[in-house]
Amino acid sequence: MLPADTPVLLALLIVSIATSGIVALRYFASSGLFAWLTRHVRPGLYDGQRAQIAREIRWSLIATLIYGAPAGIVLWGWNHWGWTQIYADFGAYPLWYLPLSVLIYLFVQDTWFYWTHRAMHAPKLFRILHKVHHNSRPPTAWTAMSFHWSESLIGAVLIPAAVFFIPIHLSMLAAVVTIATIMGVTNHMGWEIFPRILVHSALGRWVITASHHEKHHEEFRCNFGLYFRFWDRLCGTDRGLSARLARSAAQGNVPA
Ligand SMILES: [Zn+2]
Ligand SMILES: [Zn+2]
Repeated sequence: MLPADTPVLLALLIVSIATSGIVALRYFASSGLFAWLTRHVRPGLYDGQRAQIAREIRWSLIATLIYGAPAGIVLWGWNHWGWTQIYADFGAYPLWYLPLSVLIYLFVQDTWFYWTHRAMHAPKLFRILHKVHHNSRPPTAWTAMSFHWSESLIGAVLIPAAVFFIPIHLSMLAAVVTIATIMGVTNHMGWEIFPRILVHSALGRWVITASHHEKHHEEFRCNFGLYFRFWDRLCGTDRGLSARLARSAAQGNVPA
């Protein structure tokens, strides 16, 4: 804890750096874990991609600073000044609101991501904002936070802004961040971790896993969503699943 007489600006700076450190640790832990898993489940999948992975880690470290700062400032404001609609008392809202709040946050995040992502594929914006992310060809478990700093800014503001408007229990906020982290990594790691029975089920027609996002990295102009296929389906930008990942899943080995 910081001394009570710490100047506010200095406190915000320290909290921002600390939160960025936590985001960086989360990145190394999650991407590292799934990269390690990839070495065992798909040996050789990332062969020849050392330079790309080094680049991904460099951009991701910049992204951790940009994601950490607003999150840290908002959490500080919540703790000290009662900012935001985050609550810690389970009795503050009905229990059924707990899972509903997670779904609302995921949908809001997905909507923000779909439209900003789609806009970033306009040629001029693409070159400035989004090319860095697509320089990963094919993506790896380390691609999850590999964004140009300008794209990171767009992604980093959403949850810190949403907590001012949409009530959420602290533990459910942690669940949202955990889901975002796991899906961000697994959607890029180059193989499908979820079972066929889910990916090719009725539910699979509406949720996004690696098979769907890989297709975005193959063809660029389709499959813009983050968690759900809702906007892609509604707007006619859904082109189904990656054939490469489907082949790789069928072989259970490195794709040809
Ligand atoms: Zn991607
Ligand atoms: Zn894209």
